[in-house]
Amino acid sequence: MLLQNNYQKEPSNVLSSRFFHPRGDQDLQSTVEAIKKLNPKRIDWTYCDDVEILKIYKKYNLPYSLAINPQYPDSLGYTTKKSRILDYNGNLYVAPWMKSWKINNPYWGCVNNPIFNGVFLKQGLKLASLGAYAIFVDDAVFNYRLVMDNKMGCFCNYCLDKFENKKKELNRKQNLKSTLISSVTQQSNKGKEVNKLVKEYEDFQKKSVINFLENWKFEIRKIYHEMVFLTNNYNGNWNEIYQVFDGGIAELKQQYINSNDLDSLYGLADKLGKTQLFTIAIEDKDIHYRLLKYNIKNKKESIYPWDVFISGKSQRYYMNIDTIAFKEKEYTKALKKNNKK
Ligand SMILES: [Zn+2]
Repeated sequence: MLLQNNYQKEPSNVLSSRFFHPRGDQDLQSTVEAIKKLNPKRIDWTYCDDVEILKIYKKYNLPYSLAINPQYPDSLGYTTKKSRILDYNGNLYVAPWMKSWKINNPYWGCVNNPIFNGVFLKQGLKLASLGAYAIFVDDAVFNYRLVMDNKMGCFCNYCLDKFENKKKELNRKQNLKSTLISSVTQQSNKGKEVNKLVKEYEDFQKKSVINFLENWKFEIRKIYHEMVFLTNNYNGNWNEIYQVFDGGIAELKQQYINSNDLDSLYGLADKLGKTQLFTIAIEDKDIHYRLLKYNIKNKKESIYPWDVFISGKSQRYYMNIDTIAFKEKEYTKALKKNNKK
């Protein structure tokens, strides 16, 4: 059956619905309405393992990428200490932007922790078994996020043991741990100056994340050979960790929504053989239109500005669906007219 939509257009862009809407009686948004009106080519970056909802996407012939993140729970929806990242003070790690979120699973898993490895692989395989064309890893830097926060990485026993095995000359873990902790404290006092041990530990944390992701991908592709792996490479960055993935879908800062920067960001992804999609974490319609216009002109895919994360806000952003569809049509028409000239 051919499904009709209001605009009779070819599917050209991508819908991202973080969770299927409505999410309850109070929720006025509808993912099905967005699908009917926008006629997307697929749905990316959605959290879902509900077979009934996935049936709806299948009904509309929408390929979907299903999301997973470092807070994937190990125990009945909760993130417990036994599988999680511990900072140098022994505290569980919560990402700075998640501190205000009221969730049961705020803590990030450690890539060197075998329990976390187990639950992450189990869920990855489950998402693949549900017919996802891709798996999307949200916040794929894992332990390396602490390095970015000047916290050196995870200090759980699995990490310390693994690092210690790599550095046999420091044969007592307690010494190693205290040396590392005093190093990180000195580092924060001295600003950017990084000593050799800290650098080694940070590199070890980064390599651990890359190994973890490579192994995880390998295990999933053993069964699902064609599986695509996507991540949110913030601002189109392709660091060594993001390069493990086939493509990126990322929030892009407003300052980069101009032809020069977009040319070079898309160019970088092309050069690396990666796919790249951008979304903007602000409510300014004109900025969203600017990106949509650029993408249509340059034959790049867009993510519709509907169900979009907004920096510093717990509410997501939903531009009026009819307005989005109208703008898409307008820009496409204008481009066709220009091409005819
Ligand atoms: Zn660890």
